[in-house]
Amino acid sequence: MRIDIITVLPELLESPFSHSIIKRAIDKNLVEIHVHNLRDYSTDKRHRRVDDYPFGGDAGMVMQIEPIFAAINHLKSERNYDEIIFTSPDGEQFSQKEANSLSLKENLLILCGHYKGIDHRVREHLITKEISIGDYVLTGGEMAAAIMTDAIVRLIPGAIGDEQSALSDSFQDNLLAPPVYTRPAEFNGWRVPDVLLSGNEKLIKEWQMEQSLERTKRLRPNLLND
Ligand code: SAH
Repeated sequence: MRIDIITVLPELLESPFSHSIIKRAIDKNLVEIHVHNLRDYSTDKRHRRVDDYPFGGDAGMVMQIEPIFAAINHLKSERNYDEIIFTSPDGEQFSQKEANSLSLKENLLILCGHYKGIDHRVREHLITKEISIGDYVLTGGEMAAAIMTDAIVRLIPGAIGDEQSALSDSFQDNLLAPPVYTRPAEFNGWRVPDVLLSGNEKLIKEWQMEQSLERTKRLRPNLLND
């Protein structure tokens, strides 16, 4: 799999992909992540500007269509993209289901917005999918791109050591994960549930399923209706 990200702030995306599971997935050649500086595609070679004042005289700056068009076209000339995603607070809300589906794709392109937003013609003509990471407004799409990439990459087979582990995470099967514990079995008088120490795999599985259902009913009942 390959993920390309277009941004005005490539520095913001250096750390998220340089550690832990995502770094290991890159090292194992399970995924390639390429971050592109939109300013490299600016028509203004001197100041490398990529934004301009909005028509209609609103406050804030708007990202221009020319550099975005040039960047997307350059990348598209090298490979086909399954999706060209724009991060946007008014997009479809990102979910584990979406992460599962995107993790099966070969090439994804993510465009990060900044400032007041991007020239709407980009969204009308160049973007195939718009994704929000939640009902709040960020200063830019970089964190959203990092969050989506993280959620997608950890689902690629081999990215997580124990593959079962991703399957039993919250939201897979519309259930929240059961609680987990580790040693010591007793701390401060607080004991780990006896069943987990019983060694009885069947009872443990049943307990975990009950806990998942109970937690989902109590904390996120909407998942059970989906
Ligand atoms: N004026 C816009 C917000 C611009 S915020 C509006 O009211 O909708 C600047 C950029 O940050 C956006 O273009 C988008 O790319 C990114 N962004 C902000 N909030 C986001 C969110 N919740 N999810 C994904 N991207 C977001």
